[in-house]
Amino acid sequence: MRPGRKYGKTSTIKTTKKVKCKILFITIFLNCFYSFAKEYYVAPNGKDSNTGTKDSPVETIKKAQTLANSGDTIYIRGGLYMMKEEQIAQYYKIWAFVTKLDKDGINYLAYPNEAPVFNYSNIKPENRRVIAFLISGNNIKIKGIEVTGVQVTIKTHTQSECFAIQGNNNTLEQLKMYDNMAIGVYITRGSNNLILNCDAYRNWDSVSENGAGGNTDGFGCHAPQGNKNNVFRGCRAWFNSDDGFDLINSAEPVLIDHCWAFYNGYTFDFKKRADGNGFKCGGYASTPLNQLPNPIPRNTIQFCLAVGNKQGGFYSNHHLNGNNWYNNTAYRNRANYDMLNRKDLKPIDYLEDVPGWNHVLSNNLGYGARGAELVNIKKSACTLKNNYFDLSVMIKDSDFLSLDESFLTSPRQVDGNLPENNFMRLNSSCPIIDAGVDIGFPFKGKAPDLGCFESKY
Ligand code: CA
Ligand code: CA
Repeated sequence: MRPGRKYGKTSTIKTTKKVKCKILFITIFLNCFYSFAKEYYVAPNGKDSNTGTKDSPVETIKKAQTLANSGDTIYIRGGLYMMKEEQIAQYYKIWAFVTKLDKDGINYLAYPNEAPVFNYSNIKPENRRVIAFLISGNNIKIKGIEVTGVQVTIKTHTQSECFAIQGNNNTLEQLKMYDNMAIGVYITRGSNNLILNCDAYRNWDSVSENGAGGNTDGFGCHAPQGNKNNVFRGCRAWFNSDDGFDLINSAEPVLIDHCWAFYNGYTFDFKKRADGNGFKCGGYASTPLNQLPNPIPRNTIQFCLAVGNKQGGFYSNHHLNGNNWYNNTAYRNRANYDMLNRKDLKPIDYLEDVPGWNHVLSNNLGYGARGAELVNIKKSACTLKNNYFDLSVMIKDSDFLSLDESFLTSPRQVDGNLPENNFMRLNSSCPIIDAGVDIGFPFKGKAPDLGCFESKY
């Protein structure tokens, strides 16, 4: 038995040597491989004549982009960037693109634990729509920066935008867009874009059309056919003068997942402004029949929260098809759920408003609507399962751990996820715990709860 142990020992030593050699080889290989990925730095005190290293940062993202290549990371140091008109990258038709990201595969990341703030209040090109960032490239990631002060100069119908997306496979993460006259994130072209854990708030165009603010949404996707799989996840929109989330004119399905929309349609001091829906999910306004997509997409809105919006919490906006509405919570909106559709994709019918059809609603909770819980729906033409408005159970304020709306603007978790607190979470005796139907999402207890917050019991 002793030799066996000895043999075993020798074998272990040999194996260890082999493993060490392998690790060394892999390390050298990886170092060679990753040495191609470079890092560049942008800082408020940088100069565009600098080399872009950490000790010699450039001043603008525009300059950093010229230095970087696909796979590279540009770190953006914290502090205030007062943007200047001479930094505008391109004037094109009616637009002024301040920063144009058209080079593929570059990461633009806030330096860890720092907050870069880009302020556009000095950029006021006459008769132009201001686009703070145009993302026309692909596989670009932007994380952790703040955009504020984007202006509108045009007095008639117009809009400005903080982030306009026209490329594919881009990720916008943990961005803050506030006190702009501009829309937060606006997707008009491209597939597989992910808008993750971003906040758009207090955006109001107070200049055009007498300050109605009718185009200033938090987030929007309005892409033509062929532009698929665009997703909003973990985002919050509040006090935007038009809608929180808007999917009007989108020709492909969009997913809105775990997002919150509250107080939209109001200015920050609750003055009424424009449409004011939390989630406006579909519709084509007066687009001619021959320009409508065919088929009309079904959007999916799941695990979202709508509170105190001026109009509908969840609104299908004259859509020409149903949407999927799963496990959402609506509270104190004028109508918590408004399923208004148009009749059919046919002449004349495509302009006729009718009660909603073809919608699938499961496990939704509506509570305390200012007007009505559920309006404009033809239930026999929809699939409704285990929604609060269909069940015979009654709940009251004390069934929630808290209805304190100040929790809505709590700081995010360190990883950027939505805050965890007691707002509209169900207390342990609430009768809508386990009142839902299993539709394929994870749940606790015997069955899913109603609404967007699955309780822990
Ligand atoms: Ca809108
Ligand atoms: Ca449950």
